[in-house]
Amino acid sequence: MLIDITKALNEEGFNKKFPVSLAKEDIELGDGFVVTHDIETEIQIKNDNGSALLITCNFDVELTAPCSRCLKETCVSLNAIVDEEFRLSGHEIILDNDNDAPFIEGEFLNACKLLHEWILSQLPSKVLCKDDCKGLCPVCGQNLNERDCDCDRTVMDPRMEKFKDLFDKFKEV
Ligand SMILES: [Zn+2]
Ligand SMILES: [Zn+2]
Repeated sequence: MLIDITKALNEEGFNKKFPVSLAKEDIELGDGFVVTHDIETEIQIKNDNGSALLITCNFDVELTAPCSRCLKETCVSLNAIVDEEFRLSGHEIILDNDNDAPFIEGEFLNACKLLHEWILSQLPSKVLCKDDCKGLCPVCGQNLNERDCDCDRTVMDPRMEKFKDLFDKFKEV
């Protein structure tokens, strides 16, 4: 969805809200993250005295993702407060390395890209179904939140293996 920002760039004091909707199917995030609700919001675009372009937006995102320990589908909610400010020079946005805006395409603002970029940048690196999730047994795969298993999960350091043999020999004697 493209918003024409020609007026916003050229008219001092320009201030307008643009409705934006983004279908959940169109939001690809990867890493098992799935958006469960369409996003409906407004992007406010403001020309601040001809010196800056202000882009603000507030929306909620509902997602599911597998728990990082036990893989159970877990709900994640994010609240987005997008607040971008671009300096203007002669009705044009000044872009440099520190102020890069992949969602500005010439005289257009790519609203979907802006929302998408924001969601990607806010995804948690770890998702837990509950704080004390016990995870899966690394031996048999049993979900340890549901029940325990009888596996020996003490991982032996390979350097200790030879001592184990030694101990076993002593036991036999
Ligand atoms: Zn879990
Ligand atoms: Zn097990």
